[in-house]
Amino acid sequence: MNIDYDNLMENLYDGLYLVDPERKITYWNNAAERITGFSTQEVVGRSCSDNILIHIDGKGQSLCLGMCPLAATIADGHSRESEVYLHHKDGHRVPVSVRTTALYDTDGYIVGGAELFTDLSQKDSLSLKIEELEKLAFLDNLTQLANRRYIEMELEARLSEKLRCNLSFGILFMDIDHFKNFNDTYGHDIGDLVLKIVSNTFKSTGRPYDLFGRWGGEEFIGIIRNVDHAGLVNIGERIRRLVEKTFIHVSEKLLNVTVSIGATMAKDSDSMASLTKRSDDLLYMSKKNGRNRMTSDLNSK
Ligand code: GH3
Ligand code: MG
Ligand code: MG
Repeated sequence: MNIDYDNLMENLYDGLYLVDPERKITYWNNAAERITGFSTQEVVGRSCSDNILIHIDGKGQSLCLGMCPLAATIADGHSRESEVYLHHKDGHRVPVSVRTTALYDTDGYIVGGAELFTDLSQKDSLSLKIEELEKLAFLDNLTQLANRRYIEMELEARLSEKLRCNLSFGILFMDIDHFKNFNDTYGHDIGDLVLKIVSNTFKSTGRPYDLFGRWGGEEFIGIIRNVDHAGLVNIGERIRRLVEKTFIHVSEKLLNVTVSIGATMAKDSDSMASLTKRSDDLLYMSKKNGRNRMTSDLNSK
């Protein structure tokens, strides 16, 4: 039986690409194109560290210099697995699980590497959520996130659920730094584009039961469920780093913005007003202390 391996690789559900020993991309399948937005023509022949995928880990550190799992696999022949965030052509970050393996020639020499990656973002459940919100006029048009009305309803529901069932949750109040400057420098349309791309990063990296919405202008709220204070801080920090590493291409330049965050857990005595006020005060401290940072109740004292 002759198996058509080319066809098999091309139509895998997972993204697959192959590189030579210098990590120049030699092959790129359909799913890689679907997950990243980059076409075969755009990537084959280029180096994977060449500002294309710019893999970063959950701490926001670039893996292209030093800790690239594919480079390590090509060096020692061992397969590796990790979860990383890759750069989508549209700018937002996509969480993927990555497996690397070495490619050998018939004499047993390593002649390159293969990376297989699975999209971990919650696109399917997300598009259902979007449809639902759209029907109810709870969707913010520009960012396709929940709008303020919906966030307010959710906050009320979470607060009463907390009282009844003691289900803890926290909120992240986020505001883009120096956004007026950004608009003044690059124009309002590019500003709008950044709001969209940053929102996509919130959406694709949030867990299915977290909710991100636009509170107004360049302010966002994340309602983070099933966490304690440490978990909330972890998620907030991760989002801060992912936004910092979310780039848009504008005439050959990579532009990015940063966010400041206030993070706090809901208390039984909270009303929506007291909860949002507390997180806004914490956000203000992040601004005061230099921006691109998070302040939470525990470290603000
Ligand atoms: P800070 O770091 O203190 O938050 O500085 P800032 O410039 O971000 O803060 P400020 O609140 O003074 O400015 C917010 C800016 O956000 C002003 C406005 O032009 C911009 N903005 C608000 N909504 C939108 C929008 O929908 N699209 C665009 N492009 N800009 C917006
Ligand atoms: Mg603001
Ligand atoms: Mg701002």
